[in-house]
Amino acid sequence: MRTVRDVDVSGRRVLVRVDFNVPLEDGEVADDTRLRASLPTITYLLERNAKVILCSHLGRPGGEVVEELRLDPIAKRLSELIDVGVIKAGDCVGEAVEARAKDLEPGQVFLLENTRFHPGEKANDHKFAARLAGLAEIYVNDAFAAAHRAHASTEGVAHLLPSAAGLLMEREIEVLRRVRENPKHPFAAIFGGAKISDKIGILDQLMDRMEMVLVGGGMANTFLKAQGHEMGESLVEEASLDTAREILEAAGEKLVLPVDLVVADAFDAEAKHHAVLVDQVPPGWRALDVGPRTVDLFREKLKGAKMILWNGPLGVFEMELFSKGTYAIVGTLAEHEAETITGGGETAAAVNEVNLADKMTHVSTGGGAFLTFMEGETLPGVAALGEG
Ligand code: ADP
Ligand code: MG
Repeated sequence: MRTVRDVDVSGRRVLVRVDFNVPLEDGEVADDTRLRASLPTITYLLERNAKVILCSHLGRPGGEVVEELRLDPIAKRLSELIDVGVIKAGDCVGEAVEARAKDLEPGQVFLLENTRFHPGEKANDHKFAARLAGLAEIYVNDAFAAAHRAHASTEGVAHLLPSAAGLLMEREIEVLRRVRENPKHPFAAIFGGAKISDKIGILDQLMDRMEMVLVGGGMANTFLKAQGHEMGESLVEEASLDTAREILEAAGEKLVLPVDLVVADAFDAEAKHHAVLVDQVPPGWRALDVGPRTVDLFREKLKGAKMILWNGPLGVFEMELFSKGTYAIVGTLAEHEAETITGGGETAAAVNEVNLADKMTHVSTGGGAFLTFMEGETLPGVAALGEG
């Protein structure tokens, strides 16, 4: 894969697609993880005297200007992180933007406005992509988390300029490809999150290569129900029960389900709650976390693993009462000697919440892109860079 290291960027206008789709709160960046993830590429370009033009989407403005989804708070936070004043554009294309881009000096950083303010972005409209391309001489895609979408700024523009992967993109693909195609054994995975249907593809792709598959979170409820347990008001995907049975049968003993659950009388941060064995979920109650025996069991099962992949929280970790299983796993992985790789938006949020990202081998910035890649599919944003 051609990377930014393979191109001469000195003095050139480089359009960098980043993923700055970060949560905002009261007009400020609430979590700057994704901004920090893009720093290696931005710094690399600045050190080589490039003129850096950044673009990203933010939220879902639906092809029109939405004031709350302007990138100004991001420009502010990024300026602090790189210690360079970021010039913020009022749009991402158009005459004023073109003129400003042409005037850039080496070492300057120009942040374009939300690409999704234009319908041409999601439509991957050729004219819109050409207007973006017209701003620069080189295109660098560093937005791994957006690479599963063939949009103008993630895919279309790559065909119109000399293009290369950024350093974050390079690392994501390198690590995840190794996990997908050449894992270390014993290879264990932990899956959680809300729904089985999101994870069937990745289970299918990796099942034969894994020695151990631990399942928790909402996903486990559907498996437990498929085994005949009464799950009360727990989140269960009725439509996936047959699939769950097939997976259980195919996986045999390597698929490990919770043995106990934390159940609550309501989906509420202050609900009444206690741990029960999986065959004792009271009618009207719901499972919102794995229980302490399950945490012990999972820890035991992970002993000796050489590579551990984790995607999906083991409970509703956004509520403190139901966060213990998830944070126990974060802690276990942080201390584990295996290579530890996590993927998924909420999973990364849980790891970052307790500041343990640097104890993991890799915390993928991707959610949908992570799953699509692990399912063995080609990411359009990567394929356009000359990589299958
Ligand atoms: P990721 O973004 O890491 O891929 P998912 O999107 O698959 O993870 O799932 C995350 C969500 O799953 C979290 O918001 C969490 O609250 C929810 N979740 C986990 N366990 C349960 C459960 N037992 N019941 C309902 N929701 C759950
Ligand atoms: Mg998610």
